[in-house]
Amino acid sequence: MRTYLKKRRSRVELELNEVLCNCCGHAFECLDVGMIPFKMFLGYGTEFDLEEHDFDLCNNCYKTFINSFLYRVDVRTIQEIE
Ligand SMILES: [Zn+2]
Repeated sequence: MRTYLKKRRSRVELELNEVLCNCCGHAFECLDVGMIPFKMFLGYGTEFDLEEHDFDLCNNCYKTFINSFLYRVDVRTIQEIE
């Protein structure tokens, strides 16, 4: 969950204020460290037709989420590029 503040001297620009895990409320001190962002467009055939879901999870909540699946997720390790 992301909250924004209006930038000083600007009527329209917003500045990121804080990011919280949508599941447990953990506050991330630094963006992109331990935060797992999700942004999904959900198409036809689901009860969420044409909705976009945007949320952030911490490592623990993500681990709990994927461990609740009947089948394990496919995992690939990406090699770092210099
Ligand atoms: Zn969490």
